Amino acid sequence: MDCKQALMKLYNYLDNELSPEDYSEVEAHLKTCKKCFAKAQYERIIQEVVRKRCQTDPVPISLKTEIIARIRQLDNISQKNSSDNNRNFFFRP
Ligand SMILES: [Zn+2]
Repeated sequence: MDCKQALMKLYNYLDNELSPEDYSEVEAHLKTCKKCFAKAQYERIIQEVVRKRCQTDPVPISLKTEIIARIRQLDNISQKNSSDNNRNFFFRP
């Protein structure tokens, strides 16, 4: 595999979308080619930054309140269950 082929498959490589054969070919090229390795590292960092940006993006308020409401519901359920368990434990005949 030459640089052109490696770079063509680089994005799929980074996204883990290559077949095992292609993947090991790209990996083998990156091990022997500093230029493509540097490019791959660079792209990986970019991907990481983009991913982090997406995670910190503000969540729409309606979704947020819905999630909080569901978490509270779950909390109530688990609290109720645990207190029931405690009661059963203490008032067991
Ligand atoms: Zn190369």
